[in-house]
Parts: sequence; C-alpha cells; structure tokens
Amino acid sequence: MRIIVCLKPVPDPKHWNKLKLDPQTRTLVRTGIPGTINPLDRNALEEALRVREALGGEVIVLSMAPPDAQPVLKEALARGADRAVLLSDRVFAGSDTLATAYVLSEAIRTLGDFDLVLCGDETIDGGTAQVSAQLAEFLGVPNLMHVSSVDARPDAPWLVRSQIEHGCMVVEVKPPMVLSVVKAINEPRYVTLMNILQAEGKELAIWSAQDVNLSEPWVGLAGSPTQMADLLTPERKGRAEMLPGSPANQARALADRLHRLGFC
Ligand SMILES: Cc1cc2nc3c(=O)[nH]c(=O)nc-3n(C[C@H](O)[C@H](O)[C@H](O)COP(=O)(O)OP(=O)(O)OC[C@H]3O[C@@H](n4cnc5c(N)ncnc54)[C@H](O)[C@@H]3O)c2cc1C
Repeated sequence: MRIIVCLKPVPDPKHWNKLKLDPQTRTLVRTGIPGTINPLDRNALEEALRVREALGGEVIVLSMAPPDAQPVLKEALARGADRAVLLSDRVFAGSDTLATAYVLSEAIRTLGDFDLVLCGDETIDGGTAQVSAQLAEFLGVPNLMHVSSVDARPDAPWLVRSQIEHGCMVVEVKPPMVLSVVKAINEPRYVTLMNILQAEGKELAIWSAQDVNLSEPWVGLAGSPTQMADLLTPERKGRAEMLPGSPANQARALADRLHRLGFC
C-alpha cells in the first residue's frame, strides 16, 4: 500500500500580523514568517497513518514549496510519515492551483504506483479547495471531497464517508483514489521527543523541475491560466469602543447605544 499525503506549508497563523502584500508582484511576502503544516493536512496525514496501520505499506508526504519549508516536512516525518519529497524550484514560483496540481500529479507519477492520495479539503492561506479535484483529474482516478471517515478494507472496495449538505453519503470506491478530508475525520496524534529524534534519520528528498517529467506548460506564473488581477488589503473602517462598568451597566449602555442607532 503506497499512500501519498499532499501537505502544504502555510504561514503560521500566530504570525499573520506580520504578513504583507507586495503591491508590485501581487503576492504575499512570507519572508521571515515561520511555516506550519496546513491544519487539515495534519488530519490527512493522521488518516494516512491509520490506513498504514490497518493495511501496511508506506506513507510519503509531498509538498511544493520553497526550500525553507523543510522544518514543516520534518514535523510530518516526526508525526510518522516514512519519507518526504519537497518540490522546490524557482520555476514553480507563482503557480496557480492548476499548475500546482499538475506539478504534484507528475511528482506522484514519478514516485510510481499509488493506492491513495490524501489532501486537506482546503488551505488556510489560498483556500480555493481546488487542488485535490484537479489532482485527481490529472491522475485519472476517482476523487471524493469533505471526507469524514475511511474504512480501508483489504480485498474489497473501501467505504468512504463524505459530508454533504444536511447529511453524509457513504461511497464504495476501489483504490487508487484521491480523497480530501475535513477536520472531523480524526484527532491528529501527539509528537513525542522520540518521534522527533527518529525523524532525523528519515529521508527528505528535494526535487527540482528536472526530477519530474513536466511535458505541459502549466508551471509557474507563466504557465498559470489564472493571473492575479489585483490584491489589496481591505481598508479598516470599523472602530471599537470598550464599555466600562459591571456586566449589567455594560448591557444597559449597549442597549442604549443600539436604541440611539435605530436598531431597537
Ligand atoms: C495567479 C496566481 C499566482 C499565485 N502566485 C503565488 C505565489 O507567487 N506564491 C505562492 O505562495 N502562492 C501563489 N499563489 C497561490 C497558489 O496558487 C496556491 O498556494 C496553490 O495553488 C494552492 O492553492 P490553495 O492554497 O487554494 O489550495 P487548496 O486547493 O485549498 O488546497 C487543498 C489541498 O491541496 C493540497 N495542496 C495545496 N497546495 C499544495 C502544495 N503546494 N503542496 C502540496 N499540497 C498542496 C493540500 O493537501 C491542501 O489541503 C498564486 C495563485 C494564483 C491564482
């Protein structure tokens, strides 16, 4: 069983107040902002570890990111992945979701046969929720999103539960497949000091564009059909006022303000 987890390093939300937009290139300036695993990708990795525990095999984490994302991949290795591949090359910079999914799909082909690709449903920075479906399309395999449980059965189609509006559906699906998961699927395990030490001995390969068979022009900013027309920080219009006093006085003052503003 070969399981691949697509894991996106994202700026750590604890440092989001330091994020800036470059008005010239219309990209996020992430320099100096520590990265972390996209939260739902942690759930994707946890599910991969559970499938490996049930059926055996190996878990490979795959990321397309700048070289400074290595600590994020080391965390994934400490969490239990067997090895990691970081796709890092200047030509990948500025890739939109289609270009990202294309490069990831070619890297997966380069890794060889696979049974399962796991993604998060969406990231906390780009947040388009497009990559997993595009990836499945490039790989020519079934895709299910909003996945909240996976029953990986040997010698039988797997049962995959997917959240839909007002309920859920359970689908029988045969590997290989691409699934993207929601937070409810599991609780990621804790990382121990021993796990961190063991991760040091695991393989973290860095691949450039030359290591992947890219035959289409969908790479980087030039190969991205989506071009950012504009990117701006919204003007701050709101203001806050702290109402002093006891909760009862605050409630009275609040009701009075709302009344004067015509809300009640
Ligand atoms: C015109 C344009 C230019 C852009 N330029 C830049 C740029 O210069 N620099 C930049 O950082 N971003 C840039 N982006 C954003 C970039 O397209 C997204 O970061 C990327 O395509 C992933 O999209 P998303 O975050 O919406 O992922 P989603 O579709 O929300 O992610 C779903 C899941 O897919 C997987 N996934 C997504 N991205 C990756 C990845 N890179 N590696 C591994 N797995 C992944 C994860 O499992 C994730 O949970 C640009 C976007 C556009 C449209």
